[in-house]
Amino acid sequence: MNSTTSPADICPLCGKPTDSIEHITEEWLLREIRNEHPEWVEANGSCTRCVSYYRSLDHVFQTPDGEPNS
Ligand SMILES: [Zn+2]
Repeated sequence: MNSTTSPADICPLCGKPTDSIEHITEEWLLREIRNEHPEWVEANGSCTRCVSYYRSLDHVFQTPDGEPNS
């Protein structure tokens, strides 16, 4: 028997193997990522870790100074 071990997808953003490639639809998020990775092809998606990293940037922009930590 030949078990084909298909390698995990490689996240084009961080270059790490992932089994959970996400596809981003938010326009601002696409812009954020392209800002850092101009050669990134959005159809390739990115791993959930990268997506949540770039999503977290939104808080930086939207949270005013002095917001209390919960
Ligand atoms: Zn990644």
